[in-house]
Amino acid sequence: MSKTKNCETVKVVVRCRPLSQEEEAAAYENVVEMDVKLGQVALRNPRAAQGELLKTFTFDAVYDASSKQSDLYDETVRPLIDSVLQGFNGTIFAYGQTGTGKTYTMQGQWLDPEKRGIIPSSFEHIFTHISRSKNQQYLVRASYLEIYQEEVRDLLVKDHSRKLELKENPDSGVYIRDLSSFVTKNVKEIEHLMNLGNQTRSIGFTNMNEHSSRSHAIFLITVECSQMGPDGQNHIRVGKLNLVDLAGSERQAKTGVRGERLKEATKINLSLSALGNVISALVDGRSSHVPYRDSKLTRLLQDSLGGNAKTMMVATLGPAAYNYEESLSTLRYANRAK
Ligand code: ADP
Ligand code: MG
Repeated sequence: MSKTKNCETVKVVVRCRPLSQEEEAAAYENVVEMDVKLGQVALRNPRAAQGELLKTFTFDAVYDASSKQSDLYDETVRPLIDSVLQGFNGTIFAYGQTGTGKTYTMQGQWLDPEKRGIIPSSFEHIFTHISRSKNQQYLVRASYLEIYQEEVRDLLVKDHSRKLELKENPDSGVYIRDLSSFVTKNVKEIEHLMNLGNQTRSIGFTNMNEHSSRSHAIFLITVECSQMGPDGQNHIRVGKLNLVDLAGSERQAKTGVRGERLKEATKINLSLSALGNVISALVDGRSSHVPYRDSKLTRLLQDSLGGNAKTMMVATLGPAAYNYEESLSTLRYANRAK
């Protein structure tokens, strides 16, 4: 699979959800085809004649409508979480049009073991690892925040409306001033935080779907491991894991949108395009300048993208013909990142 030298640090996979019941009922055409063995996805332009204008892309892996949550986890996510447990930083993004399975992939359905997404599976993974380790001591902390219109808010405090500032310090790099962080001792405790944040996210807004499709949600886990070294001293390793459910990638600035709405649209597109630019500069490897400073999202994730950190992007697609334009733009974005 090693195509580029950075393939180890940045992985891009594509996942296509099944047609929904409504789409089946309306007999929508499926325009996405995947070759799982080759890691290829082909997109057919529904307006072109049969066989014409098939666009094909190759990724580190592709997951079709029949893929299970555990396929994605075991093949792609597990190694990244293992490296966080070793003290490296890691970031997992879900990128794609609203309604294509970002939240399903990141969170899934908590109560159904088969449908649990990356986040609950990583909780299990982390605490299982910890319970089996003998000579190390672990401390796991979690924070949950949201970036909406380039403003950062804490999802784990009562006063969710307060805007937090990004700060920089020479030792610890970029951090969020006053962001809350909680020590969690087991899966139950960390799940509780996730649920709390999800609730906060949904109550403050009249239109939850609209809000969640326009904001980036970041669940941050810090794993600190201390171990007695041969020198008799305690050595501490810290790995950070960012689990990011990005704002919907659909074009927001439709003609006729003005004022607040246009300003908001521009800001959403800004951080997604800044992220695309950062990842493509990292993958390219030749650019001496990685434009982290262009958005809150990329500034915040600076120490978890590039360098020794591992990054994974799951680009999600809807299979129906009416999603064609957005699916093509998602594939192009993902293609730049690999
Ligand atoms: P997004 O977060 O990108 O807006 P969601 O994760 O909310 O999209 O998914 C939209 C709908 O599609 C939900 O009802 C979800 O359960 C369903 N869905 C998404 N991906 C899959 C999948 N891989 N398998 C089955 N259902 C899925
Ligand atoms: Mg969502």
